[in-house]
Amino acid sequence: LKVPNKATIGYIEGDGIGPDITKAMINTVNASIEVAYSGERSIEWEKIMAGEEAFEKTGEHLPKDSLKQIEKCVVSIKGPLTTPIGQGFRSLNVTLRQQFDLYANVRPVKYFPGVPSPVVHPENMNMVVFRENTEDLYSGIEWKYDSEGAKKVREFLSQQFGISLTDDTGIGIKPISKFKSQRLVRKAIEFAIANRRRSVTLMHKGNIMKYTEGAFKDWGYEIAKNEFGQQTVTEDEYLQNPDAMGDRIVIKDRIADNMFQQALTRTAEYDVIAAPNLNGDYISDALAAQVGGIGIAPGANIGDVYAIFEAVHGTAPKYAGMDVANPTSLILSATMLLRHIGWTEAADILDNAVTACYKDQKVTQDLARILNIRALKCSEFGDEIIKRMKKE
Ligand code: NAD
Repeated sequence: LKVPNKATIGYIEGDGIGPDITKAMINTVNASIEVAYSGERSIEWEKIMAGEEAFEKTGEHLPKDSLKQIEKCVVSIKGPLTTPIGQGFRSLNVTLRQQFDLYANVRPVKYFPGVPSPVVHPENMNMVVFRENTEDLYSGIEWKYDSEGAKKVREFLSQQFGISLTDDTGIGIKPISKFKSQRLVRKAIEFAIANRRRSVTLMHKGNIMKYTEGAFKDWGYEIAKNEFGQQTVTEDEYLQNPDAMGDRIVIKDRIADNMFQQALTRTAEYDVIAAPNLNGDYISDALAAQVGGIGIAPGANIGDVYAIFEAVHGTAPKYAGMDVANPTSLILSATMLLRHIGWTEAADILDNAVTACYKDQKVTQDLARILNIRALKCSEFGDEIIKRMKKE
């Protein structure tokens, strides 16, 4: 990605706590760039309207002009958006993912010493989940049990395949394709190679869903062999001769339920995880909970052209406008953004300053409550991060 020294980045503040955490994010990112490049580089932040603010001003939650801005900026960052409740309303997040073909949801899970965690050795937790973002049960192909559609599908199944479903049965379809599975696994392996990670685990329920999740696993191994043959080995090959493998990436697979328990009991054995949509959704939040919860976990939605970095939590409406929310999720998403555009020096400075804050027990109310210490306001937490920035 070619980025000028004055980079234009789009930002969506989001609803609820969005404006508070966005302010802290922009201040800390600007400070990290200043420390890293002493004025030689900077970000021009372009505000993009979406969510409740956009609805009030334009009557639309995601106006066409905002989509054009996202297209122009190429790289953007967003706070959480309220999903309006009502018949037939698509989540704005799902709309953005589909509109810009952001097919990989990337969720790093890393422990910060000082953060309360329910696991015994949280320091072993250093994984990155690549979740397929565009198909699987999220495709929205489903019918209510008493709809005409469900009736027709049941009739079709009965006539064509002799499968009989009772008339109180709702139906959903789980499409998983070779192209979309392989582009996701390719991204996960490329990331593993670029970041010198040890393994990529394909997480699936292929023992039960052979032609969807099982196929995801097979297609994953296939692409590892065909496109990354020199840089990867299978787990079997590795176990036969671990010393001869150098820094090649081990490709393995785990059945989803086993993956959940092994991620906790044998944490150090897992690194990059590639999963179809639903598995990826579950495992990324479950892992985040082990290292301090969704207030801390960052995320990104990445395609071949566009990328939108985001806080993974929701709008926490009860804290809206109170300057008390934890901005860490959005700030760490911004460090992913900085790495994405190649500004790794600023990303390292920001990452290290966040780590130093947690080590010094400077925390917002969500964690202060658990640690029984004084809580910082969202803006104060941002200031503490800035105080701890230093050039390596
Ligand atoms: P939520 O993430 O807003 O809240 C869950 C719990 O975590 C609440 O107790 C909340 O107070 C707390 N919390 C979340 N983020 C926090 C932070 N940064 N600091 C401190 N505490 C934090 O989830 P929800 O209540 O299920 O959803 C609320 C709204 O957010 C809904 O409209 C939902 O559609 C939307 N949502 C949006 C996104 C997104 O835009 N990516 C994701 C999830 C939910």
